[in-house]
Amino acid sequence: MTTPPVVGATPRMRAALTDLPGYVPGARPRIPDGVTAYKLSSNENPYPPLPGVLEVIAEAAADLNRYPDITAADLVAALSAQLDVPAECLVLGTGSVAVLGHVVAAACEAGDEVVHAWRSFEAYPLTVTVAGGTPVPVPLTSSGRHDVDAMAAAVTDRTRVVLVCTPNNPTGPVVSAAELDRLLDAVPSDVIVVVDEAYVEFVRAPGAADGLAAWRRRTNVVVLRTFSKAYGLAGLRVGFAVAHPAVARVLRTASVPFGVSTVAQRAATASLGARDELLARVDALVAERERVVAALAEQGWDLPETQANFVWLPLGEQTPAFVEAAAEKGLSVRPFAGEGVRVSIGEVEANDRFVELAAAWAP
Ligand code: PMP
Repeated sequence: MTTPPVVGATPRMRAALTDLPGYVPGARPRIPDGVTAYKLSSNENPYPPLPGVLEVIAEAAADLNRYPDITAADLVAALSAQLDVPAECLVLGTGSVAVLGHVVAAACEAGDEVVHAWRSFEAYPLTVTVAGGTPVPVPLTSSGRHDVDAMAAAVTDRTRVVLVCTPNNPTGPVVSAAELDRLLDAVPSDVIVVVDEAYVEFVRAPGAADGLAAWRRRTNVVVLRTFSKAYGLAGLRVGFAVAHPAVARVLRTASVPFGVSTVAQRAATASLGARDELLARVDALVAERERVVAALAEQGWDLPETQANFVWLPLGEQTPAFVEAAAEKGLSVRPFAGEGVRVSIGEVEANDRFVELAAAWAP
């Protein structure tokens, strides 16, 4: 199909966006003949939705001629009870990445600054720029951790939001409770501190930051959580913020009306109801993570301490060659050019193949 002939100038759009590279999704694996393919590139949950959740999804589909409940009353009530957070403090969105966009849009005037660690979740600079803010990346420490003192030092009069990713995507370490407190003590109380806990259910490290505990003490803390990872509903796009009522109100104003579908609302509510079963799967994934981490250590890798459902291999210039070798084994992984590769914990067979492959690349 050809683009129709046009007359006139290209419409003017924001200069900040025209040259900005888009979000790079985790690749689908190239499937070599006779090899089962595994997608380890998007930190997804390898388990499919529970049968009971699939039934709820099928039933909800019958109501798709209607808009969803804009207040998502059932899901909000279930979350409120589970987290012991008042309903007025919960704001849902189409994935926590959308909610993050609403936070930045609600807090930043054009050019206001958002401080975040780097490398961290690749959507941060993109989301901040789209929302009209200016990303201020602060390098991680050499062990792939947030440098909270450097982040605090990067805060200026223009800073409206600080993003904390714990565990950090793509390197894996958590921010400790003491580090988060230090950061919160240093940041002015009218600057929002987002604690992005997309992988919180996978954390087993004692002393890890607890976003909700921080939120209970400070009005400027906003916690982001998602149903995409531990709850295995990445395809339905539902995440949420926990924010103090005055902040939550503005976040709702900034949100897309009817964003979270009826299917997503009911599936998320049913998943909360089946929480024990789903968290048992998370335990199994954590056990797999520990098995993989131990095997990599045995091979001689000295890696950042992951508390999430992925591991980070700092392969530097060898990154493209590793990605190609992984594809030959049916594994798709997530490269960051010149830096390294993030590999999600997946099916046991996929993890076995990854460990086998990593042995050949061990330092
Ligand atoms: N935060 C972090 C740190 C992530 O890694 C991701 C997903 N990759 C998200 C947020 C967004 O998740 P979702 O939009 O699916 O809730």
